[in-house]
Amino acid sequence: MFLDEVSITVRAGDGGDGAATFRREAHVPRGGPDGGDGGRGGSVYLVVDAGETMLRDYRHKHHFRADSGGRGEGSKRHGKAGRDLHLKVPPGQVDLSAEDLARYERERTHLQALLRTFSDTPPTTLVMLEPARGRRSSGFGLQRFFNDQLRSRHNGLDIAAPVGTPVVAASAGRVIDIGEYFFNGRMVVLDHGLGLLSLYAHLNSIDVAFADAVHGGRQIGTVGATGRATGPHLHFSVYLNAVAVDPTLFIVESQK
Ligand SMILES: [Zn+2]
Repeated sequence: MFLDEVSITVRAGDGGDGAATFRREAHVPRGGPDGGDGGRGGSVYLVVDAGETMLRDYRHKHHFRADSGGRGEGSKRHGKAGRDLHLKVPPGQVDLSAEDLARYERERTHLQALLRTFSDTPPTTLVMLEPARGRRSSGFGLQRFFNDQLRSRHNGLDIAAPVGTPVVAASAGRVIDIGEYFFNGRMVVLDHGLGLLSLYAHLNSIDVAFADAVHGGRQIGTVGATGRATGPHLHFSVYLNAVAVDPTLFIVESQK
């Protein structure tokens, strides 16, 4: 499914440099090395915090680095340890409440049935239009881990664009589902025929009605961040006989 998702880069602090110093004192005949070790670099921890509900905090800042250790000094003084960095993440992404889980299960059952839609009219074309103008922020098949667990593979294409950016039908089809879902937010699903479907999630507005016939390029809604979306983007999936396939196989040209 389509989880709240964000990519961040974390880096532990570097260890401090050791010092290379020598002592020479009247009562120590030969002197000797007395440089201290560099301090320990800080670690980065992801901390689950019940007070957090979304990963939105990480939308604008993606790089995090713990402090570096301090430099060692003479007289065997060790460098100061770098401070650790604790990043708070919400628990709901991994463990849903009983209520949310029940809703999610209901919606999943509905979607699984929906994706098995097979109508006998063949698609007018296999070429699809890019459904929204924007930056492709996450591709098909990307593995998504959370707290070291492989949660899922990304089953669509994400296009990041401002709220309100038009979303168009990738090709001619019929509206077989409109709704507001826990993960997908406001969503439209089109049936193109012979088991070929396209799905548009996290919409801000829906501009079609159930059972409408649309031509390719017709506006069906606008980009939003509804459901569990980290920021405004279109999640676009293409299904063939209930199996998600890479949408970019069908998109021949980007919108200009
Ligand atoms: Zn997505």
